[in-house]
Amino acid sequence: MIAVLKQGTTQAQTQHLIDWLKHMNLDVHISEGQEVTILGLIGDTTRVDMELLGSLEIVESVKRVSEPYKQANRKFHPKDTVVQIGDVRIGGGHFAMIAGPCSVESEEQIIEVATAVKEAGAQILRGGAFKPRTSPYAFQGMKGKGIDLLLEAKKVTGLPIITEIMNISTLELFNDVDIIQVGARNMQNFDLLKELGKTKKPILLKRGLANTLQELLMSAEYIMSEGNENIILCERGIRTFETCTRNTLDISAVSVLHEMTHLPVVVDPSHATGKSRLVPPMAAAAAAAGADGIMVEVHNNPACALCDGAQSLTPQQFADLNQRVQRIREAIL
Ligand code: PEP
Ligand code: MN
Repeated sequence: MIAVLKQGTTQAQTQHLIDWLKHMNLDVHISEGQEVTILGLIGDTTRVDMELLGSLEIVESVKRVSEPYKQANRKFHPKDTVVQIGDVRIGGGHFAMIAGPCSVESEEQIIEVATAVKEAGAQILRGGAFKPRTSPYAFQGMKGKGIDLLLEAKKVTGLPIITEIMNISTLELFNDVDIIQVGARNMQNFDLLKELGKTKKPILLKRGLANTLQELLMSAEYIMSEGNENIILCERGIRTFETCTRNTLDISAVSVLHEMTHLPVVVDPSHATGKSRLVPPMAAAAAAAGADGIMVEVHNNPACALCDGAQSLTPQQFADLNQRVQRIREAIL
């Protein structure tokens, strides 16, 4: 249930109402916009008398929110959330291009790719240090050393960095990481989500391989319910019966999520398609659909990549993709 307060309500009046609601064993989440303040009532609201609440002098309207996601719900927070990472913003009309290799492989590789993607217009550098691989015999990532090399690349280029966490026991290693990624395979690792909710770090939450958009938002809710509202959602393709592509990119997820939630939505066309030649057209489609950002894999030598070479772009291909995406963004503004 949400209660929209009238303009001009004082802090003291708001607090008085919150105390009364808390007295009914409800948690109250306050969303303070420039014009309106919205109170989100979380818990068993069946005993709340909607008529009574709505009749209070300071209450503009009361609505029942039937969706199980509350804090992520756009009804509860009508304005777009803008996630800020240094000077970079994502959401609410701000668009970010995230690029870099699937995995950090060496100092030379990450510095070369970071320099090239920066030059081509990327605002954020990606690179996996802890890799969730289907086979235990495949390259598992450089782990802590990989994060050190990303930080080195950040020093050289000034680009903020994003990298994936797989286990909360490694959280300390992510102290200087700008955005923590939760990969598709961990979207419903609820203990991990809760712990990340206790940090204030921006989190990029990827949609699971076989998860609905509502499930994605319930996972975001796990992070938000612990106090972290800096969440970027990522559509990266889902499992379908189609085998021509690695996954099936659900472009409609961008528009549907924008209706359901105020959180920014980025698209990863690399993991969605698995094929480098399909990445530029799908990035273009994501931009046209109004995505708040795009994340793509770029390698200085895709043929020799230790992971996901087939879907990695060369720096030149990335530069072309970025120009195409920027042109589309200008066209749809
Ligand atoms: C990745 O981005 O490195 C990754 C492993 O992606 P996903 O979790 O979407 O498979
Ligand atoms: Mn990858």
